[in-house]
Amino acid sequence: MTKPFILACTCLAALTACATAPGAPSAVSRNAGPLADDPWFALGQQTLAERKAVRSIRGPAKNVILFVADGMDPTTVAAARIFDGQLKGGTGEENALSFERFAHLAMSKTYTTDYQVPDSAGTMSAMVTGVKTKSGMLSLTDAAERGDCASALAAAAPTLAEYAERAGLAVGVVSTAELTHATPGAVYAHVPERGWGSDADMPAAAKAAGCVDIARQLIEFPYGDGLDIALGGGRAHFLPLTASDPEDGGETGEREDGRDLAAEWAAKSPDHVFVWNTAQFEAASADAKILGLFERGHLEFEADRAADTGGEPSLTEMTVAAIERLSRRDEGFFLVVEAGRVDHAHHGGNAYRALTDTIEFAEAIAAARAMTAVEDTLIIATADHGHTMAFQGYPKRGASILGLTGYDAADGKGYATLAYANGPGSVFFEEDLSAGRPPVDADAAALANYRQQALIPLRSETHGGQDVTIHASGPNAYLFDGVVEQNYIFHVIEDALRLRARAASAAPAAD
Ligand SMILES: [Zn+2]
Repeated sequence: MTKPFILACTCLAALTACATAPGAPSAVSRNAGPLADDPWFALGQQTLAERKAVRSIRGPAKNVILFVADGMDPTTVAAARIFDGQLKGGTGEENALSFERFAHLAMSKTYTTDYQVPDSAGTMSAMVTGVKTKSGMLSLTDAAERGDCASALAAAAPTLAEYAERAGLAVGVVSTAELTHATPGAVYAHVPERGWGSDADMPAAAKAAGCVDIARQLIEFPYGDGLDIALGGGRAHFLPLTASDPEDGGETGEREDGRDLAAEWAAKSPDHVFVWNTAQFEAASADAKILGLFERGHLEFEADRAADTGGEPSLTEMTVAAIERLSRRDEGFFLVVEAGRVDHAHHGGNAYRALTDTIEFAEAIAAARAMTAVEDTLIIATADHGHTMAFQGYPKRGASILGLTGYDAADGKGYATLAYANGPGSVFFEEDLSAGRPPVDADAAALANYRQQALIPLRSETHGGQDVTIHASGPNAYLFDGVVEQNYIFHVIEDALRLRARAASAAPAAD
């Protein structure tokens, strides 16, 4: 009985050699009993041997890379794994995304101090400061109040990037979202309102009270020698209202203070360069400290990137460029990489783009693992929070993840494997519901622009409150085990790099 059977190599990245899939070594067959000729039994035995061979790598680490896919909950990971496998010609379920092969896993509890279902600001702040705080604020303690400048000035929570710079490490931040958006912003900025991307976004009273916008905090980062590389979107926050945008002709910057922060970055030293398109990015020298702002707002979704006007690098290309430059620092580096648009696709009720951006996130992690040593570089892949996508019905093995389940619902109509609990795809947005739920067309559901059906009608699909996964490989990765609070991630990284001790023995914090 031969079924088309694809067995994944489940090898744990860089810890064991990839064992050959079924066919099974003879030693395994002898011990396996009557089911030894079943390839699943052999796979189970092989995985068991690999798990037994896993050895914890204890810190310290030389480098740490924190990968965060915004909104990538476990359902998104499972669906993306299948979509990736199907795009490669398999049935899909057997596939594993790069980070799923990491040896260590924990579940992360994502709530903030004031919200059961959190946002990216509070969650990323927890990961980079070591303490949970309120939603909506970047790297402040819970003592601050959202939107309140005075309370914020007294409540800054030092970030991993600050400790790392003070300790002499190189530091970088990469995102497919605006660099001033909540996730990348929490790495280097302290603000009581995540929306303060530029001075134009801030109330006059907050400016008068001494609060500074997020873009300026990136350029003026006061620790060590400042950020060493920053790649993403959000150009408008860095350019003045009086300057026309280099890519989008009719548009301008949005800063009201007249400052051109991109030019200020480039003026810092001969090594500092500002780039805004692929050609400039690729031409930047190996020593360059690059500020790359490839869109006025967020970067394109990976599915749409090829059609971009000015050309923009992929998340993988940005990650590789950052590691190449940061790894020249003998003291080591700390890099944060965000796949920022998985979240945006989910908010739009569009599974296709959420999954394709998740696949690109996995590609970036594979590239990072391949160009760093597992003995000295801790790589963490996680999410800040979940969404409401459901993976449902009883679709057959190998069924298209973007297809229908193969069964009719109680209304006599088919339904798709992926759906949302709420959002713009809600069936209640239909103007005429006299015929009940709109039918789902299998061909339409497979298209990139399709919005999966949803229940609760909301213009923007919401975040979810479920736990998200933390996958880890390298020194200290073994400390990710069980169910942990999200702010624990900081503590594992800090311990791996010995950041507090190194920062304390370096120049005083006032540098
Ligand atoms: Zn979101």
